[in-house]
Amino acid sequence: ETTSQTADGQTTDGQTTDGQSAGVAEITHWIDGTADAGHGARRQEVFNPATGQVTGSLHLGDGEDLEKTLLAARRAADLWAETSLSKRMAVLFRFRELVASHTQELAALITAEHGKVLSDAAGEVARGLEVVEFACAAPQTLKGDYSDQVSTGIDVFSFRQPLGVVAGITPFNFPVMVPLWMAPVAIVTGNAFVLKPSERDPSASLLLAQLWKEAGLPDGVFQVLHGDKEIVDGLLTHELVDGVSFVGSTPIAQYVHETGTRHGKRVQALGGAKNHAVVLPDADLDLAADHLSAAAFGSAGERCMAISVAVAVGDAADALVEKVGQRARDITVGDGTESSSEMGPLITPDSKERVQRLVGEAEADGAAVVVDGRDLVVDGREEGFFVGPTVLDRVQEHMSAYEQEIFGPVLAVVRVDTLEDAIRVINANPYGNGTAIFTGSGNAARTFQRQVTVGMIGVNVPIPVPAAQHSFGGWKDSLFGDHHIYGPDGVHFYTRGKVITQRWPHQNDESTASLNFPSN
Ligand code: NAD
Repeated sequence: ETTSQTADGQTTDGQTTDGQSAGVAEITHWIDGTADAGHGARRQEVFNPATGQVTGSLHLGDGEDLEKTLLAARRAADLWAETSLSKRMAVLFRFRELVASHTQELAALITAEHGKVLSDAAGEVARGLEVVEFACAAPQTLKGDYSDQVSTGIDVFSFRQPLGVVAGITPFNFPVMVPLWMAPVAIVTGNAFVLKPSERDPSASLLLAQLWKEAGLPDGVFQVLHGDKEIVDGLLTHELVDGVSFVGSTPIAQYVHETGTRHGKRVQALGGAKNHAVVLPDADLDLAADHLSAAAFGSAGERCMAISVAVAVGDAADALVEKVGQRARDITVGDGTESSSEMGPLITPDSKERVQRLVGEAEADGAAVVVDGRDLVVDGREEGFFVGPTVLDRVQEHMSAYEQEIFGPVLAVVRVDTLEDAIRVINANPYGNGTAIFTGSGNAARTFQRQVTVGMIGVNVPIPVPAAQHSFGGWKDSLFGDHHIYGPDGVHFYTRGKVITQRWPHQNDESTASLNFPSN
C-alpha cells in the first residue's frame, strides 16, 4: 500500500514514517515552492535501517525535472539578488527560529531514515543551526572595502555579488547539517539554491524546504531535486548552474570537481576521510579513551570527522587499548528511537557487509580483534543493519582496514614509538580531513599542529568541526577546490568580487588624460 507524505514526515493515513507503520510514503521533489512528483518514472526505496523495512518510495528526477527546477531557480535568482539585504535578513531570522522550533521533527526524520539515535540527530540540527546563525551576520560579512582619494579625485571600492544558481549535492550521513552548511550562506548572499540530497535519507530536506517557505523565502530560491548520477551529471553540465557544492566520498568528489570545473562552474567538493587521533603517554588516558570511543562509535562511525585510527605512542598503547575496549563493550546498540540506545545501525546492508569484511581482512592480516561487533544482533530488530563497536589493535598501514575508509563503528589502533612517527603516519595518509592529539604537553601539541598535513586539528578535542564563523575543510584527498565550506570561505565561494574605480570631476577640472598607462 502506498500513501503520500507531507514534508513533516506524516503519511496521509496519519502514521509517521518511523518504520513501525505499514505504509510506504511517496517522497517527492520540492520545485518552485511546492511538493512535485516530477516527470521521472524511476523510483528508489528508502529504508528504516533499524528495522530493515522499506518506508519510502523516492521519486528520482529526470532531465525534464532538472530543466523545470533550473528555470525556476534562474527566475528566482534574478529577483532574489535584487531583494534588499534587510528583507533577506528578515527571512533568515525567521528561518533560524523555525529550524530551532522544529528540531525534534527534523531529528525524527533523520533517525527514521539514517538510523542515528535521536539525541545525536538533534545535535546534528544544532550544528546546522550554527551556520544559519552565521548567515545572519551577512550585513557584516558582505560589507565591502572603500579607499578614499587613491589618486586626486579618485576613490576605489569593492563589493561582492551572488553567483546566481548554485547546487548542493549532499551525503547520507548528515541529511540536515550538511545542507545547512551550504544553503543559508548561498541564500543570504543572494543566490538560488538547488539541493540534491542523498537518496538514502531524503525526507528531512523536504521539511527544510517547507520551513524556508514558511520563513517567507520566495518560491524557487530553495528547491529540492531528488536523483542519482543522472541528476548530478545534469547539474554539473547544465549552463544554468553557476556553482556546485559537493560533500561525499572521495572518488565522487574528485569526479564532481573535474566535471563541474570542465563545464565552467565554480566547484567545492569535500571528500572522504581517515581521521587519526594521536595519544601520547603524558595524556590523561581516561579522558582520551572516553573521547576516542565517542568519536569512533558515535553515529556508528558514519561521520566524516569520526576518529577511525588511534595512533598510540610508546607506553600509552596497552592501557589505551584496555580502556577503549571497555568503553566499546559498554555501549548500548539499538533502534535510534529508543532513549536507551547510544548507537544505531549502519545505513545499508552493503555498509554492514563492508565493515564485517574489512574487520575480517584485518584479522587475517594479523591485527588483534579486541572487541568484535561483527555478529551483533539487536533483540526485536533482527532485520536491522546493525554492527557493534569494534576495536582492532596492532593495525598496520598496509592493511585494507587501514587503507580504506571503513565508515562504520571500528577503531583501529596503530602503535608507534614517537610523536615524529605518529606525524609521519598521518602525513603519509592520502586523506587530510581531521586529526587530534591527546597530550598534557603544549609543546608536543604545537609541534603536531604545525607539522600535520590535515585541515582541521583538535588538541584534546576529538572531533574538531570548526565553529560556524570559521570554515570547514580538509586537505589532500578530503577536499577538491579552493574554498572550504561555510564561514568566510562560504561567503567567498557563493559570491564574486567587483572593484570600482570612480571619479566625479568638477566641470572645469583640467583633463589629465594621457596615452601613458594610468598611474596614481
Ligand atoms: P557518496 O559519495 O556515495 O554520495 C554523495 C552524493 O553523491 C549523493 O548525493 C549521491 O547521490 C551522489 N552520488 C553517488 N554516486 C554518484 C556518482 N557515481 N555520480 C554522481 N553522483 C553520485 O557519499 P555517501 O555514502 O552518501 O556519504 C559518505 C561519504 O561522505 C564518506 O566518504 C564521508 O567521509 C563523506 N563525507 C565527507 C564530509 C566532509 O566534510 N569531508 C562530510 C560528510 C560526509
